[in-house]
Amino acid sequence: MKPAPFEHWAPTSVDEAVKILSGLDDPGDAKVMAGGQSLMPLLNLRLSQPAHIVDLNAVTGISEVYRERDTLVVGAMCRQRTAERSEDVAAAVPLVVEALTNVGHPAIRNRGTVGGSIAHADPAAELPTVALCLDAELVAQGPGGERRIAAADFFDGFLSTALGEQEILTAVRFPVDGPGCGSAFAEVARRHGDFAMAGVAVHVRLSGDTIAEARIAVSGVALTPVRAADAEAALRGATPGDEAFAAAAAATSAALDPASDLHASGAYRTHVAGVLVRRALATATDRARESQ
Ligand SMILES: Cc1cc2nc3c(=O)[nH]c(=O)nc-3n(C[C@H](O)[C@H](O)[C@H](O)COP(=O)(O)OP(=O)(O)OC[C@H]3O[C@@H](n4cnc5c(N)ncnc54)[C@H](O)[C@@H]3O)c2cc1C
Repeated sequence: MKPAPFEHWAPTSVDEAVKILSGLDDPGDAKVMAGGQSLMPLLNLRLSQPAHIVDLNAVTGISEVYRERDTLVVGAMCRQRTAERSEDVAAAVPLVVEALTNVGHPAIRNRGTVGGSIAHADPAAELPTVALCLDAELVAQGPGGERRIAAADFFDGFLSTALGEQEILTAVRFPVDGPGCGSAFAEVARRHGDFAMAGVAVHVRLSGDTIAEARIAVSGVALTPVRAADAEAALRGATPGDEAFAAAAAATSAALDPASDLHASGAYRTHVAGVLVRRALATATDRARESQ
């Protein structure tokens, strides 16, 4: 299969890319291309037939990973494999590395980008779930300049985000783990590398042997990744252990109502999400104790 014809643009800066998008008669008839690992199949199958492709692969300055005080900034064009292998990412936000090992296969991660996965916003994908769990900020640049969007406001529907048609995602800002923090990612997929039927990202902060804060995001159970707010509230101030984790798992499952599809029934996804929350909380708490 070959894509329908399109005009290919190869800007070398974000400003130029934004200028190209905003200069088009219909910016909605353009697609930004990052690693192409989701976009190219859509083009080849002609499920998407944009008249313009604005290719970010020659754009400089948006692939870097660096620290800004308590924030790790990951450039949108940072390849997933680069982030996965980065010691800086592993030290600052280990949840990103753990989640990335579940994204497709190494060949896909060699091309796929951190920003591309988040902009694509597949509800079963790992990185959007991690961004939501960690309250990451998404940095977008458009004709009006730069703005930061909280992950909680970014994913607004199935494969849909708060990015405007003339905006480019330039970076993801993750809060850095401090002492007493621990995280874990867990998912169930039919085969390793497949999109998960359900997955969870968990982050806890301990104060002594009390859970000061817990954040839980679940993938594959709705049109967007979702936070398990009731479970988070139940964990705040609790003593970590089987009882608290089982209550959090039950609260997570009770709040979900996923649709059934070819891959799994809604009831199965709900059950799996609860089991994964329980397991991930146990792992994250062990890691948090080690980091105290
Ligand atoms: C066989 C296979 C298995 C896979 N398995 C998984 C998996 O298990 N989990 C998973 O999460 N992913 C999986 N993927 C998808 C992979 O992670 C992609 O890399 C990712 O979804 C998109 O990243 P990309 O850089 O390739 O973006 P592209 O495919 O280039 O773009 C994806 C979408 O995001 C938009 N976009 C990209 N970058 C930007 C930007 N900077 N600003 C604005 N818009 C942008 C594009 O316009 C497009 O709509 C799989 C892919 C394949 C082919």
